[in-house]
Amino acid sequence: MTRIVSIGECMVELAPSSIEGSFQIGFAGDTMNTAWYLRQLLGEDHQVDYLSAVGQDAISDQMLGFLEDAGIGTDPILRLPGLTVGLYMIQLQDGERSFSYWRGQSAARHLASDTTHIGRALNGAQIAFFSGITLAILSEADRKKLLETLSSFRGGGGTVVFDPNLRPRLWETPDIMTASIMAAARVSNTVLPSHEDEATWFGDADPEATMARYIEAGAQTVVVKNGPGEILISDNGTISRVSPVAASKVVDTTAAGDSFNAGFLAAQLAGKPIKQAVAEGAALAGRVIQSRGALMPCAE
Ligand code: ADP
Repeated sequence: MTRIVSIGECMVELAPSSIEGSFQIGFAGDTMNTAWYLRQLLGEDHQVDYLSAVGQDAISDQMLGFLEDAGIGTDPILRLPGLTVGLYMIQLQDGERSFSYWRGQSAARHLASDTTHIGRALNGAQIAFFSGITLAILSEADRKKLLETLSSFRGGGGTVVFDPNLRPRLWETPDIMTASIMAAARVSNTVLPSHEDEATWFGDADPEATMARYIEAGAQTVVVKNGPGEILISDNGTISRVSPVAASKVVDTTAAGDSFNAGFLAAQLAGKPIKQAVAEGAALAGRVIQSRGALMPCAE
């Protein structure tokens, strides 16, 4: 049995329903989206767990029910009194989507408050997956605790996988963001950045510069996504490239990177060569962006 632990925040999503003025409740969040796709792609010999924190209220119960129904393990999810889950609302204005967030009371901000809990959740797991968003929502002290625990996990033979997922609005300052992202990269075996975001905040001239920076930080595998552009791969010093198949009609790019990560990791776990794993990540992302919303059932 292989166990993968995805670490981060799942939020309530309020999306416009077909009834004018009404909203539909869903659940989404980058690391949860990746766990959700991994659960669909992997067989029963793999366990996919989510490490997070929720409240003790009815909506937190509903979120846990959603994860359990999806087959995602919820044992590592803390239940904290007096807090609840974060929420975002999608609104349509003249056909354009805009997002509003309420995450100040989110229990997930405290997911790394207890290192014993994280250590226990990672015990016996093969892969720990987290993102820049996971780090952004934590206090500075908890970021440090999470990275230390992940570093021990890597030291004990575990594989740490990190998607920088840069979201400047979630961070105190751009400098704290870039410093924290590089600190996270230093405890990671595999880094899965998106070049466009990285270029903006790190000043990378091209995907090669993004790759070089993460190799320098100590990652063995770096896969630089680039929207519809060529994906650049460095795997233990071997460089290769994969071009995503052009999507005939892009409907909604939400979760492109998250589903890519799941397709890639699932193929790696199945022992496929790195270029094939990247191609499978890109193929899944290519389908996800042609359907609405973050979560697309994978069965044909
Ligand atoms: P993120 O969602 O993290 O910003 P990217 O935009 O870099 O990530 O996209 C992740 C992956 O999704 C890409 O590597 C590619 O495989 C796929 N993808 C994204 N946009 C397109 C597109 N327009 N056509 C085809 N594939 C795409």
